[in-house]
Amino acid sequence: MKINFNVPPYTGKELEYIKQAVEDQKICGDGDFTARCNRWIEERTGAAKALLTTSCTHATEMSAVLLNIGPSDEVIMPSYTFVSTANGFVLRGGVPVFVDIRPDTMNMDENLIESAITEKTKAIVVMHYAGVGCEMDAIMDIAKRHGLFVVEDAAQAIMASYKGRPLGAIGDMGNFSFHETKNLSCGEGGALTLRDERWADQAVIIREKGTNRTLYKMGKVDKYSWIAPGSSWLPSELNAAYLFAQMEMADFINERRLHLWERYNEAFAEMSDSGLIERPTVPEYCKHNAHMYYIKCRDFEERKALIEYLLSKEILPASHYIPLHSSKAGLLYGRFHGEDRYTTKESERLLRLPMYYALTEEDQDEVILRVKEFYNAV
Ligand SMILES: *Cc1c(COP(=O)(O)O)cnc(C)c1O
Repeated sequence: MKINFNVPPYTGKELEYIKQAVEDQKICGDGDFTARCNRWIEERTGAAKALLTTSCTHATEMSAVLLNIGPSDEVIMPSYTFVSTANGFVLRGGVPVFVDIRPDTMNMDENLIESAITEKTKAIVVMHYAGVGCEMDAIMDIAKRHGLFVVEDAAQAIMASYKGRPLGAIGDMGNFSFHETKNLSCGEGGALTLRDERWADQAVIIREKGTNRTLYKMGKVDKYSWIAPGSSWLPSELNAAYLFAQMEMADFINERRLHLWERYNEAFAEMSDSGLIERPTVPEYCKHNAHMYYIKCRDFEERKALIEYLLSKEILPASHYIPLHSSKAGLLYGRFHGEDRYTTKESERLLRLPMYYALTEEDQDEVILRVKEFYNAV
């Protein structure tokens, strides 16, 4: 491929910080770099507590444990999302109840949530697609009226905000990802954020194999022992060191991505005006983070042809998701509430274009040109 879909971000200090961790002879979890990453996330999101995890998937598992999700507890979520939004809850016996998305932002339609609530509903899990915030005011209001928890799958939403409030710290919990496809990355990694202190001690315990080791290190107890079921959800210092180098450069990364996003968006304005394609919708009160740039073709067939055309020019685009409710596990473990008006239809015509920190304008111009060529819109 001449132009890849993604190149993991690399800013220059990653290896130096890893070397530092090695020389400090501190490479297991919860060392200085992890603490610095946690603090950075707390400062940027305003969350009372942030804990680096081994992935966003694991942060979601932690959320399910903290909310005490058990067999047949229902969790309302979009079907148009990555599998990890659902996995943590299903592992605990929870039932994902999928609702349709809005065709404009591709986020869960807040107007469809209330009718999906039953006496078994425990939580609403939102996913901020492309780093564009869901309608959090309406969603938090529904949750409050029905006594439900709100978990934000903020995997794509680092540094993005809704009405001035950072995503990931509006609901009770936020789950972030630092996978290599995300804006900030350490290969595999994530974070759990807690809006308030309520779950902080328990979160620290379940992340450290169900022990009070952290309290022990703080001198709060004189022996540490097994006090709750838990797992090992903390990443090594090597990952944290790599990630912290990118956190220090996060504003540059964000600015660069936003610049590239705007270039795509301007380049496709005319095609969008003449109805050939659709461009992303970002409500004016949502500050996004240019996690992705996508266009929407008119239908599945047209998208297929466009993908083939781009591949023939050695450009790698990407499409996603197979809606969870029509996937094998989704059929087994979840159910769709209401009508699938947009989830399947919109997922079949959305196409993501190459978008990454190191993408050059030259390469981006090539992508733009090839898309325009395909539509005879050069
Ligand atoms: C990337 C992603 C995840 C998973 O993140 P990992 O860190 O790989 O576990 C979960 N949800 C969404 C919406 C994602 O985009």
